[in-house]
Amino acid sequence: MSFNSLGKPFERYERPGRAINRVFIHCDASSNPNITVQDIHRWHKERGWSGIGYHIYVDDAGRGWHGRDLESPGAHTSGYNTGSLGICLNGLHLSDFSEAQFDELRRICGQINEAHGGGMRFSEHNDVAAKACPVFDAYAVLGLDSKGYMSDGGHPPPSNIQMIQMTVNLAQVGFGDKHGDVALIQRLLEIPADGIFGPQTEAKVKEYQRAQGLAADGIVGRATWERLLGVGN
Ligand SMILES: [Zn+2]
Repeated sequence: MSFNSLGKPFERYERPGRAINRVFIHCDASSNPNITVQDIHRWHKERGWSGIGYHIYVDDAGRGWHGRDLESPGAHTSGYNTGSLGICLNGLHLSDFSEAQFDELRRICGQINEAHGGGMRFSEHNDVAAKACPVFDAYAVLGLDSKGYMSDGGHPPPSNIQMIQMTVNLAQVGFGDKHGDVALIQRLLEIPADGIFGPQTEAKVKEYQRAQGLAADGIVGRATWERLLGVGN
């Protein structure tokens, strides 16, 4: 695992020696616009990983940065880290993302696609995992076809952020769940994010649902997810 390029601006994609056949798009589930690629590196180390799991990070201002070296397999999409790259954008709610970030994502992905002969497959993390990651529609942003290929050779049309609708398959989360989305829900509810859906989280979800005029069943289903993420209304 190497991190020699960590923190350097992502200027030009240099095709690595290892085989790459897929790129996964993520968001960091943080509304803090000051998060840096070094912060993510530190957090991932604190999780016991060797360091940042993503290869490329796009900050709130729309600047791309090197994370894990492209030559090293990532740690971003469980079961799919071999032969892939991970790109992460700063943001939690749909409204956190800007056209500057999407422009940078398009620039970087366009270079990757070109370097691999125009045949790169781009996917959202949630294509292969029941997670609300990313919260934006990467297919719309990148102008991908339904399989994740750039339909016109890497020059997708500019998107209108208002038109980007969330299409993620939001899994139902409730009491007793312990997985990545529980911590995301806790952060959205502004309670300590221990990743365990216990009685306090359930009480907070019910309180939130009542305040939002939703059925207060304590289960985060599609309607509650959409309200929490600030989409669909
Ligand atoms: Zn992800």
